[in-house]
Amino acid sequence: MTAPIRPQPGILDIALYQGGASKIDGHDDPLKLSSNENPFGPSPAAVEAMGRALTDSHRYPSTDHGPLRAAISEVYGLDCERVICGVGSDEVIHFLCQAYAGPGDEVLYTEHGFGMYRISALAAGARAVQVPEAERRVDLDALIGGLSERTRLVFIANPANPTATMLQSGAVERLADALPDQCLLVLDGAYAEFADGYDGGRALVDKRNNVVMTRTFSKAYGLGGLRVGYGYGPGHVIDTLNRIRGPFNLSGLALAGAEAAVRDRDWVAMCIRVNTDERARLTGGLRQLGIDCDDSFANFVLARFADEAEADAADAYLKSQGVIVRAPKSYGLPHCLRITVGRPEDNDRVLAALASFKGAE
Ligand SMILES: *Cc1c(COP(=O)(O)O)cnc(C)c1O
Repeated sequence: MTAPIRPQPGILDIALYQGGASKIDGHDDPLKLSSNENPFGPSPAAVEAMGRALTDSHRYPSTDHGPLRAAISEVYGLDCERVICGVGSDEVIHFLCQAYAGPGDEVLYTEHGFGMYRISALAAGARAVQVPEAERRVDLDALIGGLSERTRLVFIANPANPTATMLQSGAVERLADALPDQCLLVLDGAYAEFADGYDGGRALVDKRNNVVMTRTFSKAYGLGGLRVGYGYGPGHVIDTLNRIRGPFNLSGLALAGAEAAVRDRDWVAMCIRVNTDERARLTGGLRQLGIDCDDSFANFVLARFADEAEADAADAYLKSQGVIVRAPKSYGLPHCLRITVGRPEDNDRVLAALASFKGAE
């Protein structure tokens, strides 16, 4: 027998990504608030467009995603030539690591940063370097202190997951100014739509050559199951990423659904409006119960408990009431629970359950 084949260095250091749970034993129809999904689902126009696209399933899809890129560009005021679409923004993150970070290179992200940054960096053979945050906020000085001549990519989600906090645009620009040559700042805008007045970093991308923005249809647009995201960046970066992108990475169904979704501006505006109101109500309700949380700029709230034991007990109690939230232990926040903002009746249910949990403590 020969020795079994071994994967490339770094790959076995990847811990499998843990998605939000979706089942509880003994509950047929649990309330799932663990993956920051849109509680209202996709736009009806997107569902209709996908229905029509089904009958064309024998055809290969567009390779350049022209109509979807045009729709995104019209709605968000982007240069269509500098948009690349991926199988979720996860794929765009993956392309960035594959294209720009290899053995000997460093990819920077922050203490509570999104899990895909580390996974994609290691998959590309690069070093994943984590820098501390300050009280659940990206710490600019720590990040700048973590830069080296080997740093190729710096990932920041703004607003961030799972903390829901946000860096102001002046701070983001200061970071972009501080980057060494041969380094890109990636602004992950998965939750940008929920931060009132924020452009996701578009203006910064347009005025610099070292900033890339990623966006997704998985959160505000309610299409997490369809897997569509996109990146926006300097022309030379988008040209590079397109060379490694599979020619048919997005299905015809995905292209049709996302295009209809982005053009249905009323639906997403309604979802964002309800989220804003309900986020304030959930935040206020938690604080009234003595459960701390930072102001959220996203579609979830990070509830902080006294310690890990209390967070575990709250999590177990919510489960007993048929409610699934996310315990962000792998993000260095064992005393917290991340609760997606649901429909008004969902948030009532969460607050009522936590009130009886606190009352029984
Ligand atoms: C949900 C999320 C994404 C989106 O991933 P998709 O692949 O587009 O579904 C990206 N970044 C962060 C921080 C997220 O929370």
